[in-house]
Amino acid sequence: MAPVTVKKICCIGAGYVGGPTCAVIALKCPHIQVTIVDLNQARIDAWNSPDFQLPIYEPGLEDVVRACRGRNLFFSTNVDKAIQESELIFVSVNTPTKKSGVGAGFGADLHYVESATRRIAAVANSSKIVVEKSTVPCRTAESMRTILEANCKPGCRFDILSNPEFLAEGTAIADLFSPDRVLIGSLQTQEGKDACAALASVYANWVPTARILTVGLWSSELSKLAANAMLAQRISSINALSAICEATGANIDEVAHAVGYDSRVGPKFLRASVGFGGSCFQKDILNLVYLSESLHLPEVAAYWRQVVEMNEYQKRRFSKTVVDTLFNTITGKHIAVLGFAFKADTGDTRESPAITLIRDFLAERAYVTVYDPKVEAEQIWQDLTEACPDLTLEQIKKQVTLAPSALEACKQKEAVVIATEWKEFREISWQTVYNDMTKPAFVFDGRLIVDADKLREIGFKVKVIGRGERI
Ligand code: NAD
Repeated sequence: MAPVTVKKICCIGAGYVGGPTCAVIALKCPHIQVTIVDLNQARIDAWNSPDFQLPIYEPGLEDVVRACRGRNLFFSTNVDKAIQESELIFVSVNTPTKKSGVGAGFGADLHYVESATRRIAAVANSSKIVVEKSTVPCRTAESMRTILEANCKPGCRFDILSNPEFLAEGTAIADLFSPDRVLIGSLQTQEGKDACAALASVYANWVPTARILTVGLWSSELSKLAANAMLAQRISSINALSAICEATGANIDEVAHAVGYDSRVGPKFLRASVGFGGSCFQKDILNLVYLSESLHLPEVAAYWRQVVEMNEYQKRRFSKTVVDTLFNTITGKHIAVLGFAFKADTGDTRESPAITLIRDFLAERAYVTVYDPKVEAEQIWQDLTEACPDLTLEQIKKQVTLAPSALEACKQKEAVVIATEWKEFREISWQTVYNDMTKPAFVFDGRLIVDADKLREIGFKVKVIGRGERI
């Protein structure tokens, strides 16, 4: 069979990955019709909203969607029609960590992948290239192939590719425009190679061919888990060192700078913080831990588990620093938390360290005021309700208020805790903040964004993660 020329693409899953990824494909490939489908009607309505109130916030995303929605980019809940019409189908559904049952807390919950695969098998009436875009455990493509082949209609065939996504939230569009690499894994059969060539030809519309890497299916699946595990490991490594800095008087910025100068280490991703968050790092490492255990490799599992444990320790350590510094009690005290998203330039709150910090502050019976420029109030209440199962929403609302701006959040507070590195927190008028705060006024910087010396000159007591200096 000659390589397929792709004219119509369907993407199952209109989330943080499926939406931006396939919108960029539509932009860069005006000759290809791209339909992004989802079962979530509200999400699709938001993608189709006349005033472009898109369901996710990403810098540059709106411009991409404006350029091609209705031209060659469509959003729909009609999953079956989109499957039938397309030659190539991305499966970009969620793969969360299992909450209960076998592998609870570690293994990937693959039921969304399975039901999307079963839907493709049930309705496809011509041959398809099925592309795993979701992050999945190694050898998931084999399960997908078994399901597809068992349901294949006469004259149809399914070729499965792995094409994990490496975008980072907050820079998704820039990452998609200019990816470090596009990874495509296929079976090393002629059909597998042809399918791989078809997908590579889509990316080749804007990605230099030297950056399109083709490997075996299992290597591709594992590479995604490995990449996230190694990125998270770097953060946990620098965070572990930040604890030593605080105890010794060393400065984590200086240490990171010095270490990063070594070309074998490199300077990127060496920023200490209150801990990593997001939907992927923890989930993918736990996935790797589970995979290692399933493969009877307990030492390998223990090695990767430590990366997550260090991250939990870092969040706990930061909460404890706040309590210890505020004279060992925050009961009845008023604390502003600046930032709720797991990082700047996204409205995503999944696994955000801010949630853990606020949960700890509520457990200590403090009053908390939260401000985030992009996270909706409803999301904050939902996250806090999930994080504090012992409290009702009414009880949470007695202790937590939401502020319309950073300045408002800080008024009459004893302490300001910076949980997300939003640019506006760097530019805030700290003199105004100081004037309106209860004294002594404390700032706890969990993101290394303040100029601590300047703040001390104003009169603040300042604690920055990874700095051993006196407050
Ligand atoms: P998401 O939860 O934002 O989106 C997934 C979407 O899939 C949801 O809208 C859901 O309704 C839809 N869906 C689930 N089952 C469906 C079905 N059977 N038919 C139609 N729609 C269905 O998730 P996401 O953040 O986009 O992540 C998707 C995958 O990409 C995950 O495996 C994740 O690990 C991986 N990934 C995420 C990121 C990231 O930064 N978010 C980066 C790289 C890879």
